[in-house]
Amino acid sequence: MNLLVTGAAGFIGSTYVRTLLARDAPAAPRITVLDKLTYAGTLDNLELGHPRLEFVRGDIRDAELVDKLMAEADQVVHFAAESHVDRSITGAGDFVLTNVVGTQTLLDAALRYGVAPFVHISTDEVYGSVETGSATEEDPLRPSSPYSASKASSDLLALAYHRTHGLDVRVTRCSNNYGPHQFPEKVVPLFITNLLDGERVPLYGEGLNVRDWLHVDDHCHGVELVRTQGSPGEIYNIGGGTELTNRDLTAQLLEACGADWDRVEHVEDRKGHDLRYSVDWTKARTELGYRPRHDFASGLAATVAWYRDHRAWWEPLKRRAGEEHG
Ligand code: NAD
Repeated sequence: MNLLVTGAAGFIGSTYVRTLLARDAPAAPRITVLDKLTYAGTLDNLELGHPRLEFVRGDIRDAELVDKLMAEADQVVHFAAESHVDRSITGAGDFVLTNVVGTQTLLDAALRYGVAPFVHISTDEVYGSVETGSATEEDPLRPSSPYSASKASSDLLALAYHRTHGLDVRVTRCSNNYGPHQFPEKVVPLFITNLLDGERVPLYGEGLNVRDWLHVDDHCHGVELVRTQGSPGEIYNIGGGTELTNRDLTAQLLEACGADWDRVEHVEDRKGHDLRYSVDWTKARTELGYRPRHDFASGLAATVAWYRDHRAWWEPLKRRAGEEHG
């Protein structure tokens, strides 16, 4: 079985690929990773010498390359995206090109060769702010940021290829991931690496925005259940079960890094900042047996320990991001 995985030089995709490569089962797939290696992707995330792994550097919008890879693929898991909300606020162009046009390029090629299932990785942000309760898969999409609008577009396009063409598309909508190998611009690794360097951490507004936290290994387990046991045309929410305000998250990160509140700098709130995301993942639990296995406190402590022990991984990435922002 040949599995094409897009965007697997990034945080979640690389974790997913590492998990599959660690399996010895005779049915374990051969994996081709297609990744452009944007600022967010690094080959240090991949075990390049592994006999079941092939890496191809390229853009998911390159129709010729995508056609060639899809002709050789049996199934697809599509992680590649521009993924950082703040960057989508300062410039939305790459978000539309990669997240929307790139996804359409992949879907067209998958359709041509009957590659299925096509697992599309979406996000809980497509539901917009959920003030009370939790969004189910039936809820309407009300994205707020250019990032989530581009993800909602690709999510709906993927589902349209199922409804229109009968392609076996499956969509996952997960909450905020945390864990090792996350580029140090998102809140958890940014705060950890700043604190390890003795720097301050920027907390948006009052810090009252609420997010559900999902360990990246639990997310990848959920994605694998969807790939192997999910149904065509279905959407599956994947949550972690730990809802925290950014203030509470900051308190836990400060404690885990042995720092005080004087290291926190209150900064102007993000434009259009959704107050709360929350997904109801009853469907994944009842239909696929999905359950998050990581308890947040120990998952976070292990993540802090990983960043403490892997400066050689994140320091060059952070330096590069700093230079880019002048
Ligand atoms: P990431 O930014 O760490 O990695 C994205 C990867 O995609 C990078 O390796 C990058 O080089 C690659 N890429 C970007 N544009 C490309 C293009 N045009 N062609 C080929 N490759 C390209 O992202 P992540 O956090 O691992 O997120 C993976 C997926 O999960 C994304 O679709 C994201 O929207 C979704 N998601 C992430 C989270 C989260 O908490 N990180 C939550 C919900 C959903």
